[in-house]
Amino acid sequence: MRDTNFLVENNAKPIWHPMAHPAEMRGNPPKVIMKGEGAEVTDIEGRTVLDAVGGLWNVNLGYSCDPIKKAIADQLSALPYYSGFRGTSTGPSIELAYELTQWFEPEGMMRAFFTSGGSDSVETALRLSRQYWKIRGQADRTKFLALKKGYHGTHFGGASVNGNANFRRNYEPLLPGVFHTPAPWTYRNPFDETDPVRLAQLCARAIEEEIAFQCADTIAAFIMEPVLGAGGVIVPPETFMPLVREICDRHDILLIADEVVTAFGRTGAWSGSRLWGVKPDFMTIAKAITSGYFPLGATLISEKVADVFEADKTSFGAIGHGYTYSGHPVGCAAGIATLAETKRLKLNENAAARGAELAKALEDLKARHALVGDVRSKGLMAGIELVSDRATKKPADKKTMGKVADAAYEAGVMLRVSGNMIILSPPLVITAKDVARIAEGLDAGLRAAG
Ligand code: PMP
Repeated sequence: MRDTNFLVENNAKPIWHPMAHPAEMRGNPPKVIMKGEGAEVTDIEGRTVLDAVGGLWNVNLGYSCDPIKKAIADQLSALPYYSGFRGTSTGPSIELAYELTQWFEPEGMMRAFFTSGGSDSVETALRLSRQYWKIRGQADRTKFLALKKGYHGTHFGGASVNGNANFRRNYEPLLPGVFHTPAPWTYRNPFDETDPVRLAQLCARAIEEEIAFQCADTIAAFIMEPVLGAGGVIVPPETFMPLVREICDRHDILLIADEVVTAFGRTGAWSGSRLWGVKPDFMTIAKAITSGYFPLGATLISEKVADVFEADKTSFGAIGHGYTYSGHPVGCAAGIATLAETKRLKLNENAAARGAELAKALEDLKARHALVGDVRSKGLMAGIELVSDRATKKPADKKTMGKVADAAYEAGVMLRVSGNMIILSPPLVITAKDVARIAEGLDAGLRAAG
């Protein structure tokens, strides 16, 4: 690799960064991360900080998990690649599919279709949903319902079901036949409803109305994150996802749980669906499936859906969908090792215990800083919403958000800013001491900007 001067000189020049303005990045180049160990990363200037972002919601096991590294190295030596297209398969892909269907058996998942990441997994679920209805002779069922504020990746299908203008506007026209209903968000919702149970009912009613308006027999699937992540860590009332399941059942609409962030323990449960006691028809997973060590994702398929495909006698049953890297043997080897470590370390339990400490620390920060409008968390996913005025809930501006993140970094904690939210998703291996460090970093950031 070239020396550090070269990297500094070329930072943000030949590369365009995701979710960023290229010119803005040149003017304010990103931190170049050179090393990671445990829950910490070190930048090119030699500064080591606690990674409260956990990579990008994915590095659940931290940066020095030797079993994953060894599994990757061993698989690279044995077989660096082979495809899973018709005619060939590989050992790690068979084994990981087996492990995943065992792991997510309580959610009713029976089959796995491998992808290269979260957006691919969402695309796969959307496409297979439509195909499911064609096999069942209901070809009119093509529409999708989703929640405003939901995030489902950036392919055209995922961007179409996305519920944030930022990720849609520049890419329109998107997929036709996609309709959104309000998210059950107590802090900001069109009903001005703050009671969670009542809000869940109102949001459920809005779904019912949309279904009646569209006609149920034109709708293929409803997609939602069990806890909305990138939209600002919106934790639905516990009654909400069961209500959605019930509505979908009544209208024979498939339910896709987008668990790209929530699977593998982040909320304190092994999945968001398990957290709310719901069995979806598809689950999309990625990110922590390899703790971020290798790009991999999967769409998991329920018995109900699998039965229809596997018993198919029509011309619609063959899957005309797949990726060169579906079932990549190195990714799947990484996944097998990640799952074993995740289970062995009971990361769900640590996420729940550390998450309770984090929630308490965030409430304390809210009590001390007027800039904090709302704090929300479930396990080790948390959102802190900053406002310039608590009464009007006016979002804090970009400059303020930058100040918070910079000062926190100076104090040794990497935060993620998204709009007027700070999003936390630290590795699930963090200790109580790390939680205290995150709170101190936030405190330093809020003091600097307040
Ligand atoms: N779905 C959800 C819920 C996500 O949070 C993300 C990514 N943050 C995606 C899909 C897209 O995943 P990827 O970036 O791996 O394509």
